[in-house]
Amino acid sequence: MTTGNLTPTADAQQAVVTDGTGSAWTEERDIPEPAAGEALVKVTAVGICGSDVGLIEGEGPPWTDYPIVLGHEVAGEVVALGDGVEDLAVGQRVALHGFIYCSRCTACREGRYYQCDELKEIGFTVDGGYRPYAAWPAYTLTPLPSDVSAVAASQIDSAGCTLHAMNRITTRFTDTAAVLGPGSLGLYGVQLLRTQGVDDVILTGTREERLAAGERMGASKTINVREEDPIDAILEYTNGRGVDVCVEAAGAGDVLQTCVKSAARQGKIVLTGAFGDTKEIDPDEIVAKELTIVGGVTASHAVDEVIELLQRGALTIDDVVTHEFPLRDFEEALDTVRERRDGAIKVVLRPQA
Ligand SMILES: [Zn+2]
Ligand SMILES: [Zn+2]
Repeated sequence: MTTGNLTPTADAQQAVVTDGTGSAWTEERDIPEPAAGEALVKVTAVGICGSDVGLIEGEGPPWTDYPIVLGHEVAGEVVALGDGVEDLAVGQRVALHGFIYCSRCTACREGRYYQCDELKEIGFTVDGGYRPYAAWPAYTLTPLPSDVSAVAASQIDSAGCTLHAMNRITTRFTDTAAVLGPGSLGLYGVQLLRTQGVDDVILTGTREERLAAGERMGASKTINVREEDPIDAILEYTNGRGVDVCVEAAGAGDVLQTCVKSAARQGKIVLTGAFGDTKEIDPDEIVAKELTIVGGVTASHAVDEVIELLQRGALTIDDVVTHEFPLRDFEEALDTVRERRDGAIKVVLRPQA
């Protein structure tokens, strides 16, 4: 093991754990020694994902391995290296992409390691980053340039999920797009569409402060679905034509049907949210309008692109990350997310604060 002068002095720490029965609590855990191929990471920022709140309520993916230390939107700093790690250095700042894979199965050999037959997901089946120190395989860690802050790096997962899903379609300069859902996935979606040259972007949602944030990020039209029917409003805005691109970023309610109904002929629908149950859609509309529907499930293939866009200023976390809390205040932080307190959009925990 290689260590620097950043090695933790205590040998125990508090980690935030849940068993999926509605609560999360702290437990004392050892600060791990990095095994061969692993790096010990000092966690400096970890985003609270909507799926973390779902995990606490037992609404995580069926493969979740409880009890689990939450946290997959992690930025940190390497403090020690296990044997055989040559492409990371002690003191290096890193972002996590949370997939542990076999590298032998067909999906892995085809580069889709996030679809590995033996996939393990950090924060879902392997303990995550709601703790000050964690050891993970070195290949899950991407070095960060100095001009990308820890909080910005904690957003690579959210922005990368949307970017990866959007990479599965092509857009044209003249497209009109709709983003359904003004959470972090949707707000990064608005920015990404603008960066791709799509400058007519509709944003729908229920909360005025989130819609206003979307306008500041370049949305040309916002629709509050509590006041207007989103299908009618989108069709009216597009003179009955519908949108060429519809990015579903809510993962709730009947937004899927809204996508199908408000898409133009040969429109493209991008699904980024997880619904947790079955939704009704009208298949005749998919056939008649020749729609393309794609889903995206990972940020791991988009880490480098998101870092580059953050560096260029083409992607900003301003107005998306609204709150930061020290890890010890995780209960208040989780309530802030649950109740969308004080206009909360994205809340980030700081385990070293
Ligand atoms: Zn997430
Ligand atoms: Zn594999």
